[in-house]
Amino acid sequence: ISNLRPVEPGQAPGSGIDAAFEAQRRAQLARRPSFDRKARIAQLDRLRDTIRRREVDIIAACAADFRKPASEVKLTEMLPVLQEIQHTKRHLRKWMRPRRAAPTLGVFGTRARVRPEAKGVCLIIAPWNYPVNLSLGPLVSALAAGNSAIIKPSELTPHTSKLIADIVAETFSPDLVTVAQGDAGVAQKLLALPFDHVFFTGSPMVGKIVMEAAAKNLTSVTLELGGKSPTIVGPNANIGKAAKHIVWGKFANNGQTCIAPDHVFVYRDIAAKFNEAVRKEILRVYGKTLEAQKATPDYCRIVNDRHFGRVRGLIEDAKAKGAQILQGGQTDASQNFVAPTLIANVSDDMEITREELFGPILPIIEYVDLDKVIDRINANPKPLALYVFDKSKSFVEDITTRTSSGGVGINLTVVHFLHPNLPFGGVNNSGIGAAHGEYGFRAFSHEKAVMEERHSITHMLFPPYSGFVQRLISI
Ligand code: NAD
Repeated sequence: ISNLRPVEPGQAPGSGIDAAFEAQRRAQLARRPSFDRKARIAQLDRLRDTIRRREVDIIAACAADFRKPASEVKLTEMLPVLQEIQHTKRHLRKWMRPRRAAPTLGVFGTRARVRPEAKGVCLIIAPWNYPVNLSLGPLVSALAAGNSAIIKPSELTPHTSKLIADIVAETFSPDLVTVAQGDAGVAQKLLALPFDHVFFTGSPMVGKIVMEAAAKNLTSVTLELGGKSPTIVGPNANIGKAAKHIVWGKFANNGQTCIAPDHVFVYRDIAAKFNEAVRKEILRVYGKTLEAQKATPDYCRIVNDRHFGRVRGLIEDAKAKGAQILQGGQTDASQNFVAPTLIANVSDDMEITREELFGPILPIIEYVDLDKVIDRINANPKPLALYVFDKSKSFVEDITTRTSSGGVGINLTVVHFLHPNLPFGGVNNSGIGAAHGEYGFRAFSHEKAVMEERHSITHMLFPPYSGFVQRLISI
């Protein structure tokens, strides 16, 4: 049943998906007692070996889908998954161990522990922008916690999605892990099933659809969503360093990164210097001419015509409303190419100030009054990431305290994704729950409360109620 495809002619709607789900459910129930740590580690080892063996194919598939540079594939698709496996193997014993819960007076004489158990059969729905990382990364956590899983990769990266299905099919039996390929319709069919957990990565708009569908089965969800991640460059920022981090965070993967710095608020007195530093960095990294930028192997493309049209439309809309293009702005529809673009003179009526940009456009907004910047951030949905560049600790602390976001990057961008001991996730509109390391393990685990009678005095809680109960309840 692995490598599920949309319904074939003559096949009952959803039957392939239903059968795959049932097979996993049955296997999960039969296997439950034998899901020990060694079995889980063996599964992770097999996944690691297949990923390594398929490195060339992974690079080729990502290149075919959106000309993703080989180095970026290794750095942002393979490394995070391999690192997740390594980290999980190292710590799984500790994460799986039941944790003692100390008693209080009312339950004196009992013994209690919190015992993580596998949720069961899980659904992982992935986006296209980091297709390998965001399909197989959550799978590591799901397997580590003892679950089985069906993965639904994105239809927008068909080469990579097909390869993920192949990788899974040659690594796992379908009653443990399988892949359902297809579009939103396939996702909807999957979501109608009573999974034990849904781990969704994608847009806030689809996140709401997923949560609504999960509610019908009271399935728990982890939602890894997106939005606009603001960046503040303060009066005492190291301008050169800030420019380097922001250019990499923004233009890697062609800006199609959930935690890319979306737009930059820069302190007015340093804005000219900062803009020039960013411009120079773009030219240094991606090439001084348009031809060089098109030719460099280090610059990705927009994933498809629709998104290309959307990103080009954002630039045109901004230009028509008086924005100043400081760098880039050129596009080539024949290869979904958008030059790395720096935009100043941005106003609130422009589309670039409203929607998540998800493309290689960096709007710069000058500010004088930090309170106004903070008010503006707080007036918008809570972002997935917020970046601050400044040498002053109190400046950074002030912003961190007065805003809410999934994560904060101080004098860096994006790399907090790679920290295995940090929870990765959003808050409200940017997500619910967290991924990575122990946080990922917990997302896929139920924390079961187990309490045992020893030499307890709990019988003193029973009627007729004694003075002990009276004292207890007068707390
Ligand atoms: P998307 O929400 O359009 O699609 C994600 C997945 O949902 C795909 O597999 C797609 O087939 C499926 N889907 C689409 N419409 C659906 C529907 N109506 N019902 C059920 N399933 C549906 O997102 P995308 O365009 O693939 O990815 C970009 C978005 O993902 C951005 O908003 C980005 O910020 C976010 N993102 C978040 C993270 C994170 O870790 N928080 C990582 C990457 C991307």
